[in-house]
Amino acid sequence: MRILILGASGGIGESLARALQGEGELVLVGRRIEVLKRLAEELGARAVRADLSQESEVQSLAEEVGAVDWLFHAVGVGGRATVHQVTVSLVEQMLTAHYLTAMWVLKYITLAPKGRAVFFGAYPQYVRVPGFAAYAAAKAALEAFVETARKELQRQGVQLIVVRMPAVATGLWAPLGGPPKNALSPAEAAWRVLQLVRRPEAPNLVEV
Ligand code: NAP
Repeated sequence: MRILILGASGGIGESLARALQGEGELVLVGRRIEVLKRLAEELGARAVRADLSQESEVQSLAEEVGAVDWLFHAVGVGGRATVHQVTVSLVEQMLTAHYLTAMWVLKYITLAPKGRAVFFGAYPQYVRVPGFAAYAAAKAALEAFVETARKELQRQGVQLIVVRMPAVATGLWAPLGGPPKNALSPAEAAWRVLQLVRRPEAPNLVEV
């Protein structure tokens, strides 16, 4: 079984990798290759550097990795701006990290028959709040994209799952001044995600 964890240099991705150690061939992807290499060495996994916003890099990654049974797209970035402060740069950053990377991934990465790809959404009621319009819009774009792509890809016998996450204490919150007090630990979040998405009849939309 081959498991591809995109965003393995981040909080949720790293915890997923730790929880999945020994369950198959683990491939860890992100841009910070030194972080990935350390984790890969510890877990007996493979580290591959790729900027997933770049079409050509995702294409090369797909060729290098081959068909995967599980794909986790734990990719994203945090950021905040009010309606009057928002900049093109922030909007581009959000849409690129959350939506564009997912688009290239589904365009190029091959899912094996019965393979599952997991994408990380957010509860609308938690993110459609003042200051988070750009993040909320990017998450909405991701969900709309995955819902549509699913209708094309289900004929291939693969499943695309969106997992809506509550707050998790990861580096995503660094530009926001740190996570809220009630945030889950990344290890707990990863454990809950795996319990839900590994059920044989896992639904397409899962809420942690
Ligand atoms: P994180 O700790 O900041 O990790 C984000 C990961 O995304 C990093 O590994 C980063 O890797 C990777 N990444 C970003 N842009 C990339 C790019 N262009 N190419 C390759 N990798 C890229 O965030 P997290 O909390 O684990 O978030 C994982 C997912 O869960 C995100 O989609 C996030 O929106 C979602 N989520 C998180 C929370 C929360 O409270 N933490 C809540 C709801 C949903 P490099 O820096 O090495 O490139």
